[in-house]
Amino acid sequence: MRAIVLTGPRRAEVIDSWAEPEPGPHDVVVAMRAVGLCGSDLGVYDGTRPTPALPWVMGHEGGGRIVATGSAVRDRRIGQHVAIEPNYCCFSCPPCTRGMTSGCENRLSPGITVPGLLAERVAVPARFAWPLPAPAGAEVLACVEPFAVARSAVQRAGVRPGTDCLVVGAGSQGLLTCLSLLAAGARVSVTDPRADRVTTAERLGARAAEPDGKRDFPFVFDTAGTPAAWETSTRAVATGGTVMVIGMGHEPVGLSTMELARRQLQVRGSLIYDHPDDFAATVAAVVGAAPRLAGLLRPGVPPEEAERAFAEARTAPGKSWIDLSTWEEDHR
Ligand SMILES: [Zn+2]
Ligand SMILES: [Zn+2]
Repeated sequence: MRAIVLTGPRRAEVIDSWAEPEPGPHDVVVAMRAVGLCGSDLGVYDGTRPTPALPWVMGHEGGGRIVATGSAVRDRRIGQHVAIEPNYCCFSCPPCTRGMTSGCENRLSPGITVPGLLAERVAVPARFAWPLPAPAGAEVLACVEPFAVARSAVQRAGVRPGTDCLVVGAGSQGLLTCLSLLAAGARVSVTDPRADRVTTAERLGARAAEPDGKRDFPFVFDTAGTPAAWETSTRAVATGGTVMVIGMGHEPVGLSTMELARRQLQVRGSLIYDHPDDFAATVAAVVGAAPRLAGLLRPGVPPEEAERAFAEARTAPGKSWIDLSTWEEDHR
């Protein structure tokens, strides 16, 4: 079968003779239709995030159609259209037994620690392949996972309708956070050094924030994770407010204990989502949200032009994704 394979830093190739997945009794085989790209994929693509092997199949955001089921699978069937929850938690470590599977100590992630989704067919544990409630376009499958990340952060923050929120960073995760906040009834402002990204967020219904340094926002969502974004976030958060950190970077950021205590700030990190509820809720919401999600998706890129999709993911406004529909159709 075909797969899009990383052969070295910034070299993605379609390989025709990649080995078929070998599903276990509790797995399903999914003919992939769409795969979204995010910052994690860029780290893998650049070689800054080492892979267990080379060549390596990338990609963790996506879905397709079930074409085979393992012998022990009873609750999934061939032909179902599924979104893949690409963090296979162990269910037995301390965070998992507390229900906080997002903190799993033994998590397996396709494209990162196990082979990824940018292939004609992939084997996925059945419980992590979520049937969609209604037919959906390829582009929807490309953004279920990052939408779940954004929705979980908004839910964990406890944002109430009518609350003023600032989203710092309008990359794809920032745009999805804007959408999730708008769906929660919040008033959403957005800031990003890049005007074209802010324009995309405005089209979704967010307002461009005035960089006046006023401490106005009860909630700030830092989706960039850079020292500059942290500066902006901690300047803009209201006294007693919350900074939710979704974006991740290696550089330390600063805030004095004096300021933290005096301004009574809460700083909370948010990583992915907890199985099963967060992903289930996103899958239930995603088909209805499809028209709004379309506003932040770039046109799908065919597999032969995967390198262009990675380049766009770095620079262009909106979310980049690879359209594998032609491969999926070949499977019929
Ligand atoms: Zn991602
Ligand atoms: Zn675990």
